[in-house]
Amino acid sequence: MFSLCITEDEDELPGLIKGLPVIVIVNDRSREADLLALGVEDLLEKPLKTRSIILDHIEKAIMRYEASKIIHETQYDPLSGLYNLHYFYTYGQRMDQFYPEVQMDAIVFNVNRFHMINERFGRYYGDRVLVKIAETLKQIFNDQGCIIARAESDSFMVCCPHRDDHKAILQKLDEALKKERVMMRMGVYACADKDLPIETRFDRARQAAMAIRNDYQRRIGTYDKRMSKQELFNQRLIDDFETALAQEQFKVFYQPKFNIRSDIPVLTSAEALLRWKHPSLGLIPPNVFIPLFEENGLISRLDLYVWQRAARQLRKWREELKIAVPVSVNVSRIDMFDPQLIDDLQDIINDNKLQAGDMLLEITESAYGEDPKLLIDRVNALRKLGFMIEMDDFGTGYSTLNMLSSLPIDALKIDMRFVKEAFAGRKKDTRMIEIIIDIARYLRLLTIAEGVEDVQQLNTLKELGCDIVQGYYFSKPVDENSFAGFLDEKLKMLG
Ligand code: C2E
Ligand code: CA
Ligand code: CA
Repeated sequence: MFSLCITEDEDELPGLIKGLPVIVIVNDRSREADLLALGVEDLLEKPLKTRSIILDHIEKAIMRYEASKIIHETQYDPLSGLYNLHYFYTYGQRMDQFYPEVQMDAIVFNVNRFHMINERFGRYYGDRVLVKIAETLKQIFNDQGCIIARAESDSFMVCCPHRDDHKAILQKLDEALKKERVMMRMGVYACADKDLPIETRFDRARQAAMAIRNDYQRRIGTYDKRMSKQELFNQRLIDDFETALAQEQFKVFYQPKFNIRSDIPVLTSAEALLRWKHPSLGLIPPNVFIPLFEENGLISRLDLYVWQRAARQLRKWREELKIAVPVSVNVSRIDMFDPQLIDDLQDIINDNKLQAGDMLLEITESAYGEDPKLLIDRVNALRKLGFMIEMDDFGTGYSTLNMLSSLPIDALKIDMRFVKEAFAGRKKDTRMIEIIIDIARYLRLLTIAEGVEDVQQLNTLKELGCDIVQGYYFSKPVDENSFAGFLDEKLKMLG
């Protein structure tokens, strides 16, 4: 069955053309071009011909309509009606060929914390926001030579002749999205180098947008010389990754955590923290390479390496020193979505004759934002096996209280920023820390404070009822040999 519309009434056309192939019966062909431009598939001229000729027209109209529908579906993103990524790049390349002398910008738009919008208001609402953004972008970039795509989720891309009214563009978007209270950010690679593949130009624009992801002061990121240098450096780290892993250039350091509930602080566990001893670049701190490896997925292999190392070390301490403490390891957001995760951790425990309780898992709060349901299922499964879960960087990831109460976790690790800020002014202000400790108590969770650097901070946290602290006051992260000193001390203390 196929529906088709044959009409003589041209006034009806605008309402009809959407979703149906249309044939118009006309007195003569004088308006043929206009009607075809409106989307009409074919014309039948009066007086009507034989039945077989009419049927032939109908069949061809349907075929043409079907063909153009397929083309439309392969070229456009069904939600926004904008180009999809593949066609966007194809047309972009074609524009380069036709207009080699025109300077073009590569621009990427993202919605700030889009996953939260979906989560709070539902997918339907999120989709409506995306459609509104698409419509606004179409209005803003409606001149010739501009093409627009929705790449994925909340990422939009525009390829257009160079312009520098970026602020005004954002203002227009703000205006259009005022009711939804949605804020967008943009990454711009202006007058992009046309010798580069179009995908690379947009990767750069994306990088520029990524660079300001957590910076609420800046909403326009531009790809510049500094970023270009950074890109080369990052590429070098990626190129060196395999060798570094094979040559064991990645070192695991350990930072002690102390329970401060009793009079004398007691060593309770250690956090395993990575360092890269690069043969020519020297010691590289994790903040430099972890985000990079998170972006390209290499982090999963690196994390697995750290977990294996830490587990082996724990076993060694237990065998050689007759004492050990649980080690907490960092579990990246990406690891949490890896179906292998649970088996990997279980294997590590078994291979080293440990128990799940010997390993604490630190999962950053922001990881819970993306797909909370899947994450909660995974964390539940891990806890069932006996692993303890600490929510890392708490206070930076925008968990709602509601969500927090349904999360299967054992401890809240207060982000270092709160400790820093509490003691930064002339008068200490610990209100935020108090609130977090109250929440933890209400939810029956342990609290851990990190970044504790002096005795005043330690004593205050103790007074406030914080359970565990970690920080330079006790020790910086140290290698396994130095950490053995802490274990020795604990052994002596236990008598
Ligand atoms: P994090 O998990 O929040 O780790 C705490 C960071 O704070 C560590 O930095 C630690 O050295 C530092 N720190 C501890 N006490 C103090 C203090 O008193 N003052 C100050 N200023 N800093 C303190 P580090 O080792 O540079 O690690 C930075 C981040 O890199 C970690 O933050 C974590 O997100 C990531 N990371 C480190 N190792 C791994 C790993 O094996 N896997 C993954 N996925 N991420 C890791
Ligand atoms: Ca951590
Ligand atoms: Ca942390």
